[in-house]
Amino acid sequence: MSFPEGDALGYNGSALRAEHELHANVEAQMSASDHFSTVIEDVLQQFLTDASPAPPELRDIAARAHVLPLMWDWGGCFAARPNGEIISFLWDEPDNMHLATGAHIRNMGLYQAAKRYPTLQQFIPCRPADALDCPQCNGTGHLPELFPKNFVCSCGGLGWLPHDET
Ligand SMILES: [Zn+2]
Repeated sequence: MSFPEGDALGYNGSALRAEHELHANVEAQMSASDHFSTVIEDVLQQFLTDASPAPPELRDIAARAHVLPLMWDWGGCFAARPNGEIISFLWDEPDNMHLATGAHIRNMGLYQAAKRYPTLQQFIPCRPADALDCPQCNGTGHLPELFPKNFVCSCGGLGWLPHDET
């Protein structure tokens, strides 16, 4: 008689623990995203007020769309929203912003942006155990000399690519 009761209690106990852990994870994720949001807001304010060598139109776009430009080239720009989304747009149509999905885009944006804004270094992802060496730069993060200096490897300069995107 006592055995099934004990079993039931044990089961309920585990379910509660599991649910508690789930909540703890959600809270941890929320405070991490709050932190990201605060940092992006701060750096965006710096970007908008600093006399840093950014194209003037980029500052207008960043102010209007409330996004922090992470990296840009002749074609367009990757930028971060304070809510953690990474977006891209072309210079020709800056109001046509696309949500950039994919961990390697996020990695690239944050890694390149951290060179410009050192506060963002805390968001550079650690290399996961199952990541693969980038085949384009042979894991060095640097493209061969024949590429123009400002070209960024498709790994973003990290030298590795997430396993699920290779
Ligand atoms: Zn690479």
